[in-house]
Amino acid sequence: MQLLIEKIKNEGKVLSESVLKVDSFLNHQVDPELMFEIGKEFAARFKDEGITKILTIESSGIAPSVMAGLQMNVPVIFARKRKSLTLVNDLLTANVYSFTKQESNEISVSKKFLQEGDQVLIIDDFLANGQAALGLAQIVKEANASIAGMGIVIEKGFQDGGKQLREAGYKVESLAIVDSLADGKVTFRQDHKV
Ligand code: 5GP
Repeated sequence: MQLLIEKIKNEGKVLSESVLKVDSFLNHQVDPELMFEIGKEFAARFKDEGITKILTIESSGIAPSVMAGLQMNVPVIFARKRKSLTLVNDLLTANVYSFTKQESNEISVSKKFLQEGDQVLIIDDFLANGQAALGLAQIVKEANASIAGMGIVIEKGFQDGGKQLREAGYKVESLAIVDSLADGKVTFRQDHKV
């Protein structure tokens, strides 16, 4: 998605050979117009999948997911990372090792929001080793719902997650694929459809 690639080129900060910081439009401050376009792009790429719900993970998956939900006219659920006093019963849970925080979190979703028969689109801000996406997939499976696909804003193609998820048979659509962060420079995948 050209607009997103330009934004990453202009505002992304390479923190190391494996971490990209995009806190001016996605991970801290949010650019609503860009998120709106991202929502439209996800809706277009998954329009034939019969999506009934979107599932993401707090917090940075929420903005793109809500915009996709608006376009697709379906509810958006975000898995919670922290225990909540109001979220205690009838939970679907999974353990997710966080790439950026280097710690494990138990993520949870209330059973009442995912049902058998749901066709779920999983959305996240980044795809690195695939742990977050696999944790969300586990939650969908626990609910006996179906995974219709995975929509990723920024995939780091030099890490293993994308390969693993595609080999597992998931339809993974990434709006920008970064092939390298070497030498402080963001290199995008050339043959990627934009
Ligand atoms: P994975 O679970 O695929 O290993 O990592 C994806 C999760 O880690 C995303 O939810 C995202 O929050 C975080 N993440 C992974 N790599 C990056 C990165 O380079 N930059 C930022 N800002 N977050 C990342």
